[in-house]
Amino acid sequence: MTDIDTAAPVLVTGATGYVAGWIVKGLLEAGCTVHAPVRDPGNAAKLQHLSDIAANAPGEIRYFKADLLEDGSYDEAMQGCAVVFHTASPFTVDVKDPQKELIDPAVKGTRNVLEAANRTDSVKRVVLTSSCAAIYGDNADIANAPNGRLDESVWNTSSSIAHNPYFYSKTLAEREAWKIAEAQDRWRLVVINPSLVIGPALQARPTSESFNILRQMGGGALKSGAPRWGMGTVDVRDLADAHLAAGFRPDANGRNIISGHETDMLAIALTLQDRYGRDYPLPKRAAPKWLAWLMAPMLSDGLTRKAVANNVDIPWRADNSKGKRELGVTYRPLKTSMEEMFQQMIDAGQFEKA
Ligand code: NAP
Repeated sequence: MTDIDTAAPVLVTGATGYVAGWIVKGLLEAGCTVHAPVRDPGNAAKLQHLSDIAANAPGEIRYFKADLLEDGSYDEAMQGCAVVFHTASPFTVDVKDPQKELIDPAVKGTRNVLEAANRTDSVKRVVLTSSCAAIYGDNADIANAPNGRLDESVWNTSSSIAHNPYFYSKTLAEREAWKIAEAQDRWRLVVINPSLVIGPALQARPTSESFNILRQMGGGALKSGAPRWGMGTVDVRDLADAHLAAGFRPDANGRNIISGHETDMLAIALTLQDRYGRDYPLPKRAAPKWLAWLMAPMLSDGLTRKAVANNVDIPWRADNSKGKRELGVTYRPLKTSMEEMFQQMIDAGQFEKA
């Protein structure tokens, strides 16, 4: 990225996360001073990968203490920052209390960070990591999108606290962000809407839900077959580049779908067959929809029969042309991202050979 303005510090919320790690890396390598408000700045082990990158890059990182649920806790870290990347939000589907575990941190956290931007005169731009989950809820919704393909004009109207609560939390949070942004005119909101993020992590123990999907594939849970659950994917490094462009390109604006591939769960797993199929219990064939429907409640707390009915055997389609055109995003092959991610998990001892 050549158009990064390194004069003022840059704030990144959720810097300990999978996606944010690569954004921080890009900023440090460009020479930026990164302000990183984290829940536990005393946890050196959790911050080690970021400190190591900073030690070998021209930029600098400063840690602050903040929590999405504590009003005003981002004010100190935001002082003097021109660009704010708000990535922090819980990404997990296995929750007992969706209001407390997903919706409150997503919505109150977005309000907290954006209200801090309103109080901080130096802020000119806020980049929000939203999700394609704020665009659609189930694959069945895609039939109603313009020309049967999701684009930035579409909003998720099918999710609720009872059905796809993670998707609902991202929809409410993005709506809140637009409401706050449109009530002022000092800073511009640019929203990034990624599909499922894949590819290697910078930290040794990533907790993002992205890794659970691979754990299911490589751990044998889908040995007898993976459902053809349509989804989009994007490599975490291509997504980080999209964030940097959204933060620094003069013309970046609005919502931006960032998704490299239209695929499904079985097709994703099949990219691993060549290199790993002999040694690991990876799925080779499609699980029939009726079987996925029957098994859903036993497989995971977050998986319902309604979700299977509305997603399996239904293709995922989205128009990614705005991100390519306006943010200059390019996408590496799905197989490359999957092999690098899987190899990293093998090296970390996460899988037994078959
Ligand atoms: P992740 O690795 O789990 O990162 C989540 C981050 O949010 C962590 O840094 C976490 O901090 C922080 N966080 C959670 N609750 C917090 C709280 N109460 N106060 C302060 N920080 C809090 O997940 P990720 O995959 O990188 O996700 C990052 C963003 O991308 C999220 O907004 C997610 O919705 C979005 N996204 C992800 C995907 C995907 O497939 N991964 C797809 C679309 C959009 P701790 O380290 O302290 O827990």
